[in-house]
Amino acid sequence: MQHRIVVLGAGYTGAIAAGRLARRLYREDVAITLVNAEPDFAERVRMHQLAAGQDLRSLPLSEMFAGTGVELKLAKVTGVDVDRRTVAVVDADGPGEPETEELEYDTLVYALGSGWNDQGVPGAAEHAHQIAGRPGALRLRERLARLDAGESVVVVGGGLTGLEAATEIAEARPDLDVALAARGGLGDWLSPKGRRHLRKVFDKLGITVHEHTAVTGVEADRVTTADGGTIPAAVTLWTTGFAVHPIAEATTLDVTDTGRIVVDGTMRSVSHPDVYAIGDAALAMGPGDKPLRMSCASGTPMAWQAADAIAARLTGGKLPNAPLRYFNQCISLGRREGLIQYVTADDRAVRAALTGRFAAVYKELVCKGAAWGVTNPTLGLPTRRRHVVRQPARAGSPVRTAA
Ligand SMILES: Cc1cc2nc3c(=O)[nH]c(=O)nc-3n(C[C@H](O)[C@H](O)[C@H](O)COP(=O)(O)OP(=O)(O)OC[C@H]3O[C@@H](n4cnc5c(N)ncnc54)[C@H](O)[C@@H]3O)c2cc1C
Repeated sequence: MQHRIVVLGAGYTGAIAAGRLARRLYREDVAITLVNAEPDFAERVRMHQLAAGQDLRSLPLSEMFAGTGVELKLAKVTGVDVDRRTVAVVDADGPGEPETEELEYDTLVYALGSGWNDQGVPGAAEHAHQIAGRPGALRLRERLARLDAGESVVVVGGGLTGLEAATEIAEARPDLDVALAARGGLGDWLSPKGRRHLRKVFDKLGITVHEHTAVTGVEADRVTTADGGTIPAAVTLWTTGFAVHPIAEATTLDVTDTGRIVVDGTMRSVSHPDVYAIGDAALAMGPGDKPLRMSCASGTPMAWQAADAIAARLTGGKLPNAPLRYFNQCISLGRREGLIQYVTADDRAVRAALTGRFAAVYKELVCKGAAWGVTNPTLGLPTRRRHVVRQPARAGSPVRTAA
């Protein structure tokens, strides 16, 4: 009997993990199933580009995984039972009524990513746009296209997504009145060089910056702020962080109060050893015992670590040690400008930063590289397959390391 590995989510981390597992284990030993709701891989790191009117190439998962030994299942995950080791999925693809199906697993890799986080701010859910995924980015794209010259767009959130979105929109639509509202100072975590450059680009693009401004409400044509003021906003874009889907929280897995699955250094759930979690959905500790932030930058090595740890445990090999650390923050500032802020292993800015057109090209290469790693799931890694070591099931053991 094959060991059944089910990977939930074919985003940056799930797709990488599935491909890497296929490269590490013999097909006759394992059945790897990759479940995703959408038929195409979504390059989330380019959602601000999509919203600003650029067209992204289509990346069908069926083509990416053809011939890899990974079985792709297009279905929406609706629940996980980690005690019975089953996943409930709704197959929305077939004709007629959507059918619910149960997938059984021996090892689960949970990589369902995240969506936007309105943080309960009144009016945000009703009136604000978001670009955490393709549907939201397409809605914003359509709305921006209908705006007349001089109309106002307010980007709420001064983090990486907010900076990228505000500059992308301002560059694509210089006729609009674009503003950014940030709780802190503009790029206040960056080096002095990084901050100077950011301000220069924002000035050049004519973006109004409302610093130290907490947005406390969103209406159809404005946002309200903690100091009692208002900022006109024909369109409000909400970018104040991501929130995970509620599926993990509804299980008996050990999760944080925000619903992220708590994992150890091998990305294995601390409560259920046959469950691994990676990417935005997981809370893993990085250097300095600081939680890794939701990003591809840390999600990619999390995926390597999980896949290699699963393969090692199944085959009796040595446990891996992927570099779960940061090197830089790569920020696009429109298509012609960028900022590469070098950071310490635990993500604190150092003095060095790259700016300007070179940084824009660098960031573009990083995005292309990230997508290449996903779209060529079994390339770029020497094949080092090993056979699964068959272990007799131990009485009372919650883990079947091999079927
Ligand atoms: C605009 C924007 C810019 C960004 N820029 C950067 C950047 O420059 N650098 C960086 O490091 N990070 C960046 N990020 C963050 C990065 O995109 C995420 O951290 C990363 O995508 C997380 O990977 P993941 O695999 O955990 O989740 P995802 O890539 O979101 O993948 C999750 C997958 O699961 C699928 N899924 C979700 N729910 C279900 C369900 N119920 N059933 C079936 N399938 C489901 C989704 O369709 C998706 O394919 C950016 C994000 C955004 C939105």
